[in-house]
Amino acid sequence: AHAAYAAGRPRSAEIHARARRLMPGGNTRSVLFYTPFPTAMVRGEGCRLWDADGREYLDLLGEYTAGLFGHSERRIIDAVKDALDRGINLASVGEAEQELAGLIVGRFPSIEMVRFTNSGTEANLMALAAARGFTGRVKTMVMRGGYHGGVLTFASERNAVNVPIPLAFTDYNDPEAAMRDILAEGDQLAAVLVEPMLGSGGCIPASAAFLGALREATQRTGAVLIFDEVMTSRHGRGGLQERMGVTPDMTTLGKYMAGGMSFGAFGGRAGIMEVFDGHRPGTLPHAGTFNNNVWSMAAGCVAMGEIFDGETAEALYARGEALREALNAVCARAGVPMQFTGRGSMLTVHFRAGAIERPYAARPAEDRLRELFFFDMLAAGIYLARRGMAALSLPVTEADCARYVAVVEEFVAARQPLLA
Ligand code: PMP
Repeated sequence: AHAAYAAGRPRSAEIHARARRLMPGGNTRSVLFYTPFPTAMVRGEGCRLWDADGREYLDLLGEYTAGLFGHSERRIIDAVKDALDRGINLASVGEAEQELAGLIVGRFPSIEMVRFTNSGTEANLMALAAARGFTGRVKTMVMRGGYHGGVLTFASERNAVNVPIPLAFTDYNDPEAAMRDILAEGDQLAAVLVEPMLGSGGCIPASAAFLGALREATQRTGAVLIFDEVMTSRHGRGGLQERMGVTPDMTTLGKYMAGGMSFGAFGGRAGIMEVFDGHRPGTLPHAGTFNNNVWSMAAGCVAMGEIFDGETAEALYARGEALREALNAVCARAGVPMQFTGRGSMLTVHFRAGAIERPYAARPAEDRLRELFFFDMLAAGIYLARRGMAALSLPVTEADCARYVAVVEEFVAARQPLLA
């Protein structure tokens, strides 16, 4: 697979060779790294991408969920241009940030007040700062295999070298263990930080019982329950928390919400968020040159105020559910140990049978199949994350979904001996 891949992409190979001399691994965003070298995209339109060697792809990755609106949503591009025409950042508060704050507060009952950042990572770090300031405690509980940004990656023990705060761990989707572990930490624990569906960890949805246990245990110990909805907020007008019927104390947001411009936000109960209120004594600082940058704020107002309404969110969710069902039907018909997990417009392929409730150590054979799947999809003109995740964007049509199903069906037929 590597040889055919490399032979068809001389320009991408060249770009990578040059980049490697300047940036370790040839990139500045680890998720984009894979061997032998990543395909370099040069242009996008709607949900189509073109690489440096002139190949065209159906973009089912949607910039890891940030590209919800596709590559050429006119209203977003116009809003950004219009904002920039009035001056590149003015060292000032502005009305756009107020409008976007209103749109977010109006959608998430868990968010009475909100503040902006430039990334989901910062949003999580600041939410943890708020929880620590509010509770006067320091420790945070996270999930094994959870992902909350570059410095908050819990896929393995090795990642913990990045983490700047004291941590406790529990297992995803184990309500009894979560209850026990949180109660055991008692008044040591400032916060519990959790994705209501693991995104990077494999599109593994949380059970209602698990989220319910986190809610109850944190209420009992006084820890702040933070839902990281950086990816999952797309699953409904008020995010996945609304769909699950669980209200956290704080919520973090990011990705698509500023129309694809750099963005993050964290918010929660007014009583917690007030730790940043400069009108009060002893406030915590939350600075950041680009927190309210004019292009993200302007794009966010259009994205959340005009385009991504509740109805659009529901339609996208339904399209993704139908796609995942069709893909799983292909796997079931072939009788192969392969499945697609996720919710709504986010889904990931796994090469094992049985329910997947938490991240697992993949066997070498599973890793090889995952890699083969990725390169076979690329060869068929379908662009996914290297780990096999898809995140549908709004321009993706039913016909595009049908094409993905057909290509996966071909993969299953062609690779049957390896899969069985
Ligand atoms: N939380 C989750 C659940 C994410 O998936 C991500 C990004 N993949 C982040 C936080 C970090 O966001 P950013 O990359 O914007 O820092």
